[in-house]
Amino acid sequence: MNTLQWAKEMDQQDPLNKYREEFYIDNNKIYFDGNSLGLLSKRAESALYSVMEAWRTYGIDGWTEGKQPWFYLAESLGNRMRSLVGADEGEVVVSGSTTVNMHQLVSTFYQPREGKTKILADHLNFPSDIYALKSQIALKNLDDKEHLIQVESRDGYTLHDEDIVNEMTEDVALIVLPSILYRSGQVLNMERLTTEAHKRGILIGFDLSHSIGAIPHELSKWDVDFAFWCNYKHLNGGPGSTGGYYVNKRHFAKVPGLAGWFSSDKSKQFDMKHELEPASDAGAYQIGTPNLLSMAPIIGSLAMFEEVGMGAIREKSLKLTGYLMSLIETELGDYHFTICNPREDDSRGGHILLQHNEAARICKALKEAGVIPDFRSPSGIRLAPVALYNTFTEVYHCVEILKDIMKNETYKKFENKRGVVA
Ligand SMILES: *Cc1c(COP(=O)(O)O)cnc(C)c1O
Repeated sequence: MNTLQWAKEMDQQDPLNKYREEFYIDNNKIYFDGNSLGLLSKRAESALYSVMEAWRTYGIDGWTEGKQPWFYLAESLGNRMRSLVGADEGEVVVSGSTTVNMHQLVSTFYQPREGKTKILADHLNFPSDIYALKSQIALKNLDDKEHLIQVESRDGYTLHDEDIVNEMTEDVALIVLPSILYRSGQVLNMERLTTEAHKRGILIGFDLSHSIGAIPHELSKWDVDFAFWCNYKHLNGGPGSTGGYYVNKRHFAKVPGLAGWFSSDKSKQFDMKHELEPASDAGAYQIGTPNLLSMAPIIGSLAMFEEVGMGAIREKSLKLTGYLMSLIETELGDYHFTICNPREDDSRGGHILLQHNEAARICKALKEAGVIPDFRSPSGIRLAPVALYNTFTEVYHCVEILKDIMKNETYKKFENKRGVVA
């Protein structure tokens, strides 16, 4: 396993290896940052051009004419995305962005009432989610110090199901958690947490930013109330790509917290009345005109996920990250790295997390040597070998490069400080 030969054989046997050619890859680099920004594929690029072409050809009529009439794209793309999250017809829409969709859904689902006023979140989530929750609490004239509960982590990297369940007290109205923690890559047990929340009459939603396109989901089967995500990480929709959300059909009649004319029933939208008649499905939680040019690449990118299926993507992803961890253990034993992601397949996502006191400058040295990692303050190195475009050979070379950097101490020529975007 510790030979280049073995890695090359794995690549030859890999049923997904032909998809690498579909992406724009710089062969002088090893791109392991697809969990922050996925790479551009030729299909995503041509989908963008075809929306541009519809604009050129049809002008305003592009809303209803052409291959992908813009007026229905949020819903039609959402329906195509159902297989990635395990949703039923009408439950998924491509719209907004992670944080905007979160605001929409929390403003819709968070209805504090006597004795049930709190939101339960966690200490490890991405800051934007916590900022959004605090401002939603403030908008209800409540104090987040009292009404936002954040589950503590025992080790600073992961959460225990029992600790989350223990915080599901009677005064909790809503729970919002990540599906996969953005630092450690831990996969939370969404099914169990949903069951436990519902037993206590609490609504629960998940941020799927790090899990969409990385692991399979069964949101409808698990009976999750709502979810939201971005499409620029594992889904390769491009920088600032339009996000997505899921609303369980049980909740279709819920009045959107943040209404706009795109919340409308589509057949009534252009009646231009001042009384909103919301769409009868998850379409009701859109706000305004969709960002078409940021949605277009998803049309092409999604086609690859549909062809391959999440099962095969997850299988290869686990093999790549498993290989990476085993090489790190056998090759880098002398250099004080700690693998901080969970080790069991069921609870680890699409990336691994290495902890090292010199992480910031090790990342700079990796970048200089052509490996693109992702530094996460204060001392984390995330590495994401992605199923659709990375290879076992790249994993092998990445560890060899990292070993050279540690052996020759080339990281020492950099400052141990993060850049502005890191
Ligand atoms: C990437 C990510 C975001 C980003 O939010 P945007 O609104 O897309 O900028 C938010 N939350 C989590 C958990 C993320 O991983």
